[in-house]
Amino acid sequence: MNHAGPDTDHVRKQTLGFSQQSNEEQPILSQVVEILESLYPLEYAESWDAPGLIVGDLSRRISRVMFAVDPTIDVVDEAIRHHADVLITHHPLLFRAVHEVSGLGFRGGIINALVRNNCALWVGHTNADVAYRGVAHSAADAFGLVNQHPLVPSDTQQHGHDIGLGRVGTLSKPQTLRNFATAIAHKLPKTNAGVLVCGELDAMVHTVAILPGSGDSCFDEVRSSDVDVYVTSDLRHHPVTDAYQQSRYEFMLKSSGYIPGGEHHTAPFPAFINTPHSAIEHLWLERAAVDLQEALKRHHQRSITIYTSTLNTDPWNLRL
Ligand SMILES: [Zn+2]
Repeated sequence: MNHAGPDTDHVRKQTLGFSQQSNEEQPILSQVVEILESLYPLEYAESWDAPGLIVGDLSRRISRVMFAVDPTIDVVDEAIRHHADVLITHHPLLFRAVHEVSGLGFRGGIINALVRNNCALWVGHTNADVAYRGVAHSAADAFGLVNQHPLVPSDTQQHGHDIGLGRVGTLSKPQTLRNFATAIAHKLPKTNAGVLVCGELDAMVHTVAILPGSGDSCFDEVRSSDVDVYVTSDLRHHPVTDAYQQSRYEFMLKSSGYIPGGEHHTAPFPAFINTPHSAIEHLWLERAAVDLQEALKRHHQRSITIYTSTLNTDPWNLRL
């Protein structure tokens, strides 16, 4: 395959492994999918979700894989430009019933482009969210959480580890809410939307709950986990306003001894840190790339070229 082109050097720098093998020795798509679905089993997915192989020919030899958060037109163009044989994304391309892929809508256009260019698409969505070394676990590690456990445990384990939605853990050293939020902002890919904080900025935080993606449905679980701060995305005005008012009110009741609890806290809890959605989920990609490469070597004694998209797929391109 000819990889010559203006971005070739850039691609090589991002390469985690480069196969010198002949085409016959490269894995086929079904083997790559089998490994992905052992790392992120599809049975972990929510009932409304349909991750897995979306586009692809199972018998095709695979030498180049690209990871990204969103299967946008720009990301698909990037994958095709880099001659990717498989694009692996966190977010689904197809979320609701599909009746045509004619190309009159952008989803059909993307599918046609993928098929025309022999690029498969595999999605690891809610199955990757809950998995060991999955999306939440990767973000929690990136933010320095230790003694982790799932925020909402699944009723199954993976390789002897508890898995589930989100993660709860502690910081090895307490720090102010302001400093913790700043550290998070530095860890994330740059976006125009940026990181938002709701809470007492100089209060010390030690315990953290994190749920990459839209997390306002888990406020009750976060509250019962008794953490200082909740890190998630897509927090809207009313849910977060109400939740923080409740934090302040409960803290007043607990501090006054009217209700039990709150002994470990010096400020209303939980506070909230709102991150751009795709940025926090981007933290999974490098780990997933390493894990896929290692599993391919372990099971098939084969390595492939893996590239992680550096495109910012946050939808906002101007902040005034
Ligand atoms: Zn998401």
